[in-house]
Amino acid sequence: MALIETPARIDALKEATRVAENITRLTPYRPGKPVAEVERELGITGIIKLASNENSLGPSPKAIAAIHDYASKMHVYPDASSFELRNALAAHLDVAPDTLVLGNGSDDIIHLLGVTFLEPGDEVIQGYPSFVRYESAAILNNAPCHLVPLTANWVHDLDAMAERLNKNTRMVFITNPNNPTGTIVSREALERFIAKVPERALIVVDEAYCEYAASSPDFSDALRYVREGENVVALRTFSKIYGLAGLRVGYGVMRPDIANSLHQTREPFNLNLMAQLSAVAALQDQEHVAKTVAMNETGKADFYRAFEEMGLDYTPTYGNFVWFDTGRDSAALFQALLREGVITRTGDVFGAPTYLRVTVGTQTENAKFLNALRKVLAT
Ligand SMILES: *Cc1c(COP(=O)(O)O)cnc(C)c1O
Repeated sequence: MALIETPARIDALKEATRVAENITRLTPYRPGKPVAEVERELGITGIIKLASNENSLGPSPKAIAAIHDYASKMHVYPDASSFELRNALAAHLDVAPDTLVLGNGSDDIIHLLGVTFLEPGDEVIQGYPSFVRYESAAILNNAPCHLVPLTANWVHDLDAMAERLNKNTRMVFITNPNNPTGTIVSREALERFIAKVPERALIVVDEAYCEYAASSPDFSDALRYVREGENVVALRTFSKIYGLAGLRVGYGVMRPDIANSLHQTREPFNLNLMAQLSAVAALQDQEHVAKTVAMNETGKADFYRAFEEMGLDYTPTYGNFVWFDTGRDSAALFQALLREGVITRTGDVFGAPTYLRVTVGTQTENAKFLNALRKVLAT
């Protein structure tokens, strides 16, 4: 029987579906376009995606084998404590197992940090442009997020960020290396900043790309500050160098008291069985990691050389992607590159409308991208 749509009922329905004001300010995440979608739209095939900083070598064969091995066990709930992965990671990182919180991607940990620690009136600080999920976590929890512009060289301006610290500051995000710019903060600048942050605030250092930067003498990871007992949370992921983006495994390293608070919020089965066990296998395949780093080093050098030849300004990267100035509207260039079969990421979403971010891929992919770029810049 159909309900009668009286004015009173219409008003009641409006009330029932009214969304909290802060939720209306959340903008849905705009991910890099999937290959299949672009191929459908343009009616072409053979498109390559250099848009989401994935590992073009794919996952470790050992991680794939682990999925096969455990497929017949998927009727059983996963271990809610991710015992095997937690212990494998603790050994690999040389930290205690109780400093680790595993997540359905490091996005999950960012979400947990917000839900667990942010209350209305708390303030969040992050660099800009940087990863967009921090601000979402702040908005979700009614905490204003200060976006502090990077320096002219696209580096986190920790002195400017320090000026935004006050008694309401509850969380600060530093992306190191930064996405989309590939830059890092110096150890000295980071330590000077940490010393200025009030006791009641957490410093979250997002190290999604740290494995690519690890061999650089100027890069210093945040685990040292966790070990020293600082209010520091280091975020890491299996989505980037380990090539498991589709499986969703990330983690945070932090003092056990901070970890315990996140465990109160965390969904017990936030990591599925395949994710846990293939991440263990991926971690054990450091040869695959080394191969990926080597591919990245070669690709970076090829990109730098080509950009110099084309007279394009680029930012030297510590990650597996390069942020460069096309000198023109990069949204139009992005479309032209799409038609040549290459998906990249435009800078307009990061407030830099002449920039593009391109992921370093295999030698074949890089050559295809560079040929396409030369072609579209010539027209
Ligand atoms: C890709 C990325 C992440 C997200 O990683 P997931 O583990 O896939 O959620 C987090 N931070 C930065 C800076 C990234 O680029």
